Amino acid sequence: MLDAVTVSEPAPGGANDDLLLVSGRWAVVLDGVSSYPVPDVGCQHTVPWFVSRLGLHLGYGLAVASTSTLPNLLATAIEQTAAEHGPACDLGHPLTPAATVAIVRLIGDQVEWLVLGDATVAWMLADGSASAITDDRADHLPDAPVIVADVRRYDPDFVARVRNQPGGFWVAAADAGAANQALTGTLRQQDVQRVGLMSDGITRLVERYDWSWADVFAHVDQRGARSLVDAVRKAESDDHDPSRWRGKPHDDATAVIARLAA
Ligand SMILES: [Zn+2]
Repeated sequence: MLDAVTVSEPAPGGANDDLLLVSGRWAVVLDGVSSYPVPDVGCQHTVPWFVSRLGLHLGYGLAVASTSTLPNLLATAIEQTAAEHGPACDLGHPLTPAATVAIVRLIGDQVEWLVLGDATVAWMLADGSASAITDDRADHLPDAPVIVADVRRYDPDFVARVRNQPGGFWVAAADAGAANQALTGTLRQQDVQRVGLMSDGITRLVERYDWSWADVFAHVDQRGARSLVDAVRKAESDDHDPSRWRGKPHDDATAVIARLAA
């Protein structure tokens, strides 16, 4: 079973658009995609509404549909959330509310994982080595135009053209087909000591500030999950030039770190 510690905190002064769910057998971290600075995305539903509905359906599926694959469970949860938007919403809008997804599930003697969007699943093996999978397709888009608006970000018109499109990048939004674009894999439970699910507000410790994945696990071991967020905020405030990074100076930060217990 999963013996987990967790933390989820908003960026300072903001609301938290991340969501975590943990059971003894599976865990989920969702990160609501921030609203784009465009006047209309086809519906009035908020990012927290989307994330909480998607999480509800995903948790239900994980709890009851134990033989369904993770991409199928995610596809069903996307479909159910889309149905709840109702007919007044234009779900064909390319910037319809969306979230990134990380899932881990224990099944048989396997650890299954899924990541979609810039979420991360990390693991530490019994030999002490640690690694991770991040769906970083959004970081490798050819000729991606970066603008400096409220923050450094991709031009929303560009995002609208490449989000959930072949050759672009994928998130959980209204199209269930995105679930089949998730990165997935399995590990043998006997090889795995710990797993971690993290939103990108946490993983910038590794992506920007030179931490190793082993450092992340060790930090939680020594100081607890809450201290990961303190470490992120300190690294961000010590950054001599945060404007060099694409994205917000601080982000919602969520982590589930779980030991695999007999
Ligand atoms: Zn809607």
